[in-house]
Amino acid sequence: MNASGGKQPKKVPPSAQAAGPRKIPGLAIKRKAAPKSPEAPPTKKQRKEAEEGRQGAVDDQEEEELVYEEESAAESSRSQPSKNPSPPASGSQGGGSAGLRPVVALKEPPRRYGWWSSTVGETSKKPRMLIVFSGRSREGDLAHQMARLGWLVCSLDTVLPTPTDLTKDEVWDEIKKDLDAEFFQAGWIATPCGTFSPLREKPPGPRVIRTIDHITGIPDPTKAEAAQLRDSNILVHRSYKVAHKLHQQVRPWGLENPDHPAGKPSLWMMPRIEDMPRWQGVDITRFDQCITGLETTKPTKLYTEKLELSALKDKRCNHEKKVWTREDGTTFEAAHNPTVQRWEQVDGKMQRASKSQGEHTELLSKILAVAFHKNVDDKWKMEQLRKEML
Ligand SMILES: [Zn+2]
Repeated sequence: MNASGGKQPKKVPPSAQAAGPRKIPGLAIKRKAAPKSPEAPPTKKQRKEAEEGRQGAVDDQEEEELVYEEESAAESSRSQPSKNPSPPASGSQGGGSAGLRPVVALKEPPRRYGWWSSTVGETSKKPRMLIVFSGRSREGDLAHQMARLGWLVCSLDTVLPTPTDLTKDEVWDEIKKDLDAEFFQAGWIATPCGTFSPLREKPPGPRVIRTIDHITGIPDPTKAEAAQLRDSNILVHRSYKVAHKLHQQVRPWGLENPDHPAGKPSLWMMPRIEDMPRWQGVDITRFDQCITGLETTKPTKLYTEKLELSALKDKRCNHEKKVWTREDGTTFEAAHNPTVQRWEQVDGKMQRASKSQGEHTELLSKILAVAFHKNVDDKWKMEQLRKEML
């Protein structure tokens, strides 16, 4: 099938792109000075500038594309979800121009579920990546980076222009069938962690509904809490299933969630998930996302297989402490401004700062994308060669 867009661009094999000038930048992030008011979030541009090693020459095009994608995503979340989202017009997106190639939504995706993206052109021979709980689509995210490395990406999330609700059995059954048939070459899973969040312990957060002793849910939930726990437990179980399937197929995958302090409930304590470190080949990586340019520390834990992540492993916050002022005027010292009470504007809407802090920085997405691509490239080429010889 074809990705949307008029002109047929030059076909660039994934290997040729991987060998190109793009590199993982070093992790020595220059942090910008703290904003004068902790409440004022830095602009998108400032946040981008806080990350080193970007491709300066293609910035303008990146910005343009970002505008399109965010508009279409925001449009869709306001109105009814569109079953057939219109892809960007190829002409105005510079489909044939030099520099960074646009990533587009597929006009005719290979499956009914998911939001499918790739660079313009033939997609049937591309390796396929499944991103479960991708968040909104934005420039620099894992899907964009994978697409530019030559992948066809299927993103699953309720906030995408084609929303996917993984709590629905009929949706899950289709995805599971594809996983069983080895349809995806790789997968990334960032299971929603809201029901585990320690933010629940601080007002005005909702009350704690999981404890160490009751990790699948407190014994006396309200009706609403019970529904929330049921959905969340389904998502955790399906996350496990995706990882387990890719593990059986010896393919690269990663499961991401916060690295909560010892003694706090977390996804990692859930039934079956707690057994994953004993799977052969599973690697555990702990790091703070501030080392990839995030404004908060965000301790993070990954279970992965077949991914080389030494750029992240054990890299913890090394930023200097600063004095911050609370809303009531009192001050405290910390390396980063805690997000619990902050609000910020995203896509014209006010939301808790902790929400956007759930998104990867461009640098983190790049590290993950390159790790995936490095692993699959040779294996994929061999598979393609074998198919062609048959
Ligand atoms: Zn830090």
